[in-house]
Amino acid sequence: LAGCAGWAGTEGRVSEAEKRFFAQNELVFARVDFTDLEVARRLVVSFEAVSARYGEGYLLLELSLQDFARLRERERELGLRVSLDTALSEQQSRRLRGFEEGALAEALRDFPCYRTLEETFAAARRIVAEHPALAAWADIGDSWRRGFAPRFARSGHDLRVLELTNRAVAGPKPRLFITSALHARELATAELATRFAEHLVGAYGTDPEVTWLLDHHEVHLLLQANPDGRELAEAGILWRKNVNLLACPLSRARRGVDLNRNFAFEWGTAGSSAEWCSDTYRGPAPASEPETRAIQDYLRRSFPDVRGPALADAAPADAWGLYLDLH
Ligand SMILES: [Zn+2]
Repeated sequence: LAGCAGWAGTEGRVSEAEKRFFAQNELVFARVDFTDLEVARRLVVSFEAVSARYGEGYLLLELSLQDFARLRERERELGLRVSLDTALSEQQSRRLRGFEEGALAEALRDFPCYRTLEETFAAARRIVAEHPALAAWADIGDSWRRGFAPRFARSGHDLRVLELTNRAVAGPKPRLFITSALHARELATAELATRFAEHLVGAYGTDPEVTWLLDHHEVHLLLQANPDGRELAEAGILWRKNVNLLACPLSRARRGVDLNRNFAFEWGTAGSSAEWCSDTYRGPAPASEPETRAIQDYLRRSFPDVRGPALADAAPADAWGLYLDLH
């Protein structure tokens, strides 16, 4: 029956119609129905699923034709059924074209309850204006487009940290540093960090716990760690990496570096890809991306390095400070 029912009956192979679909759509998403939860969990880690419906028994993965073919070949062995999600693929490819043609979103597509990049920055500036004794808004570096893009492609953003503490109480104080939205499509993380900041300054002076926190600690928030990528995500594109145009330059759907695989610590180990069109591309060198370097430098300024030399050495019990990266 192969070939008679569209995609069905391909017996471990990719049909001609499916290959055509990959050629016609820049972004292709596959639905992977699974029978073994352990297999599903491994796939989520390997492919960075855009959606994992463990309860309903399927995953949505953004795949290259090569990865699609590889999974198709192992359908029977892994207890999977791999099929194209044509509606999602066509929607995402259409939105990518719209973005490239200059259609910047005014509100967050699909999730209007979360604030946009510009609304997040406005919220931070408002916090500083209304609570000058508690808040500052520091520039710690550049996005790739701001500082590193070729001149014709330059635009981009500063990376800014919202610094909260009662400066009337002298330090030194231990610091909590939070980064959010490093992966562009993880929209909720920036909103969570922004609301946390608003809660802290709003409750200062009335809530004793919050007052103690800001009197005797510093809370620093990099609310938008990947602002270039976030612009694509706000247009409703399931974007993950930064927007480095020189990584995978021939595909506007797949370019960029996975900032969360680009940190110098343990760079190049399992879970990251050396293929520059991959969604988990680690970049050409440790900390090659300006966003990564800005975060690393800020961490080094924020926290003394007191760990031992071995990989699994714990920090000493009197180490102070805390870093959280929200995903
Ligand atoms: Zn993430």
